[in-house]
Amino acid sequence: MTRPLVAVLSGAGISTDSGIPDYRGPNGLWRQDPEAEKLVTYEYYMGDPEIRRRAWRMRRDSGALGAEPNGAHRAVAELERSGVPVRVITQNVDGLHQLAGMPARKVLELHGTARAVVCAACHERTPMEDALARVDAGEDDPGCLACGGILKPATVLFGERLDPVVLGQAAAIAKACQVFIAVGSSLQVHPAAGLAGVAADHGARIVVVNAEATPYDEIADEVVREPIGSALPALLSALGSEGG
Ligand code: ZN
Repeated sequence: MTRPLVAVLSGAGISTDSGIPDYRGPNGLWRQDPEAEKLVTYEYYMGDPEIRRRAWRMRRDSGALGAEPNGAHRAVAELERSGVPVRVITQNVDGLHQLAGMPARKVLELHGTARAVVCAACHERTPMEDALARVDAGEDDPGCLACGGILKPATVLFGERLDPVVLGQAAAIAKACQVFIAVGSSLQVHPAAGLAGVAADHGARIVVVNAEATPYDEIADEVVREPIGSALPALLSALGSEGG
């Protein structure tokens, strides 16, 4: 029998148990502090060396790279390992789905990744770890080692557009999946949120797992308000045995 394709759209809520706060959501930390928001806004970041120096200090001090995946990330990876076709579409930049064991090719990062940096001039990608080691060693605004250009995180900064290739792949998954699970996302930021609507229009079963109400609860077949850390593993293990 053909097993249903399961799409998991994850937002900040899946990573809060890993100690990563919601930075970029509608009520996220960046949005509440205009000075902090400048550190992650393309125009300011590229135009002002002082903003970049502050951004590097913030990245060094945040410790985000040390975060560990939690039970919800592991449950998604386990479902995939059990043989169910799973694709993850994530609004997060923390890389925790992959650290939990999801194959990187099955994870679409809508907002990029904080685990790499990219040169704004020559587009070379290198590990964030290496750039932070240079900051630790005393460089306050490390430049590209290949061309001297400005290094920025490989995340989509405010003012930058989402990668159209990644978006296209995400839309294709939303159309093709039989089950669409939105977890830890407020479903208020487009185009990510719109994927739930696309999936519903194409006949997928919609499940929303989120502490707060979302604009898509009304069209969802199932809405789960329990904490993600316990609710998602239970939901996914039920799904895994259904198909099996
Ligand atoms: Zn370069």
